[in-house]
Amino acid sequence: MFKSEYLNRVYEGLAARNAHEPEFLQAVREVFESLEPVVAARPEIEKNGIIERIVEPERIVNFRVSWVDDAGKVQVNRGWRIQFNSAIGPYKGGLRLHPSVNQSIIKFLGFEQIFKNSLTGLPMGGGKGGSDFDPKGKSDNEIMRFCQSFMTELQRHIGPDTDVPAGDIGTGAREIGYMFGQYKRLRNEFTGVLTGKGLSYGGSLARTEATGYGVCYYMKEMLADMGESFEGKKVVISGSGNVAIYACQKATQLGGKVIAMSDSNGYIVDENGIDYKVMQEIKEVKRARIKTYLDYVPTAKYVEGCRGIWSVACDIALPCATQNELNGDEAKTLIANGVKAVAEGANMPSTPEAVEAFQAAGVKFGPAKAANAGGVATSGLEMSQNSQRLSWTFDEVDAKLHDIMVNIYKSCKDAAARYGMEGNLVAGANIAGFEKVCDAMLWQGIAY
Ligand code: GLU
Repeated sequence: MFKSEYLNRVYEGLAARNAHEPEFLQAVREVFESLEPVVAARPEIEKNGIIERIVEPERIVNFRVSWVDDAGKVQVNRGWRIQFNSAIGPYKGGLRLHPSVNQSIIKFLGFEQIFKNSLTGLPMGGGKGGSDFDPKGKSDNEIMRFCQSFMTELQRHIGPDTDVPAGDIGTGAREIGYMFGQYKRLRNEFTGVLTGKGLSYGGSLARTEATGYGVCYYMKEMLADMGESFEGKKVVISGSGNVAIYACQKATQLGGKVIAMSDSNGYIVDENGIDYKVMQEIKEVKRARIKTYLDYVPTAKYVEGCRGIWSVACDIALPCATQNELNGDEAKTLIANGVKAVAEGANMPSTPEAVEAFQAAGVKFGPAKAANAGGVATSGLEMSQNSQRLSWTFDEVDAKLHDIMVNIYKSCKDAAARYGMEGNLVAGANIAGFEKVCDAMLWQGIAY
């Protein structure tokens, strides 16, 4: 399957041991494909067992989360924290709360996080966590009780120099607040142990906007290399969560027109351009379905079924919903309808067939671990501010985020070129992310 015997051997062993973890294996396979020339050029990688070590999480914590619902009934969920790799810094990564969460999902996200965090240039290792708790339809009190119970166990495994969790799907400012309160209650420590905090207790300006802005800053660099810009381009963004909303704002500010967005029920099309403020009101304040957009803009169109969004013709596509939300056939539809560039705001939203289709058709493709790294990068900036006991202005943070995204783009482009794969940002992101972690692991030796 791989040209390298070594990669084959490691992958086969991993696949046999983790046959029930398809998302994790999908993420590993994509990284291995990119690493072929690196492994061939650097024998010390095999000699030091870097590949077999990097696919094995340093630690997996799996725990029970019991809480009492509003009816007084005891509920039990499963919680995870996966501390994947600490070669370049404390474990760092979000907490996903969604009924689809299982060990495979958290492992794929944690594995991706190693390379993403490395690409930011900041000292952060890879980690991820979450629970199969479904926040949908829960009261504020139920959310609070769940978050407190979750943190009652998690607190013994994390710390500002050990592991710093943050938000992801289902975990926003409200959940981080409840978790932070519980950490402080149990430990009597006011530290930057979580990022994505509220502004009044150590959060960073621009953290909320960062992932969505970052995707657009990355896309801006991709377009510039094609002699293009956002100006006058039709943009389709899947999702309507934290990433999608601020990608919509930034794409519009940069001159694009966002004509479609979605949630898990369906999608809306507004040829006049979607106002991110309406979306923010619907999703963040009312916590309602996207269909509600029609109450604000009656001329818009609503279509049931979220996947149909990929049939809307556009120049730029930004998948910002969830993993494997865009398959090979949907990619081909986008290509037939003239898409020029795609950047991933969600984690692994395109299936391997979709990525292959885009690349074969010459559509410029920005992979998640590079394009959506702005969120965790700004979490890194929040950690720096907490350590300094200072807070920077919105413009300061935004300018740093912008520079980081430009640098990530450059690292991806340069790494691809160094190994003879000009323009392949997937390979470039995997190689550039990997090399820094690999070098740190080589320096730090092996514990026998
Ligand atoms: N959940 C985000 C990600 O996938 C952000 C993680 C963080 O800020 O630590 O990168």
